[in-house]
Amino acid sequence: MVKGDNINDIIDHKLFSEDDIHEMCVRLGAQLTKDYAGKRPLVVGALKGAIYFLTDLTRQMDVAHQLDFLDVSSYGDGFESTGKIKVVTDLAADVKDRDVLIIEDIVDTGLTLKFMKDLIKKRGAKSVKCCAMLNKEARRNVDVDVDYFGSKVGNEFVVGYGLDFLNMYRNLPYVGVLKPEVIQKYVNK
Ligand code: 5GP
Ligand code: MG
Ligand code: MG
Repeated sequence: MVKGDNINDIIDHKLFSEDDIHEMCVRLGAQLTKDYAGKRPLVVGALKGAIYFLTDLTRQMDVAHQLDFLDVSSYGDGFESTGKIKVVTDLAADVKDRDVLIIEDIVDTGLTLKFMKDLIKKRGAKSVKCCAMLNKEARRNVDVDVDYFGSKVGNEFVVGYGLDFLNMYRNLPYVGVLKPEVIQKYVNK
């Protein structure tokens, strides 16, 4: 019987271990260190899912940068992007003439990332790039570049390391696939 309240009971199988994610952060951090040398970028975490990846990734970046957050809603509480996106919590910083690096947990259809990139470009940023932990490339339905990513992932719903199901399970230290029973427990109610 899966209650779903103990996070280690809800995973069917692991996809990316803590070591896998650490390796992604080391590799991406080294690349970003090169690409942003001398640029003092504004690093923008996409709330809420990206915060776990962001804290580990930025500590691998030997680049002076500033930090801000942007929360746009795309998913509601379900699995599929609604297509309707709005700003829930806006940036504090002025992005005009800044090199902006958006950090995302996962890019799926690409709608959310395109919305964020367009918003930041429209406000006059010098450059806007994205570093995502995971890239569901096969699901893309808008044309948007994921400039850096840790790994591709197939068409399955993943949780952990920031990625949620009903705003739960973000604190799982690895990325895995939910047991079908956990999904059933909530979907049938
Ligand atoms: P998109 O707009 O690219 O379709 O969706 C982006 C957002 O949907 C991500 O930032 C993430 O919050 C959520 N999302 C997409 N795929 C998954 C997934 O497999 N698991 C979880 N937990 N969230 C996902
Ligand atoms: Mg996200
Ligand atoms: Mg979500």
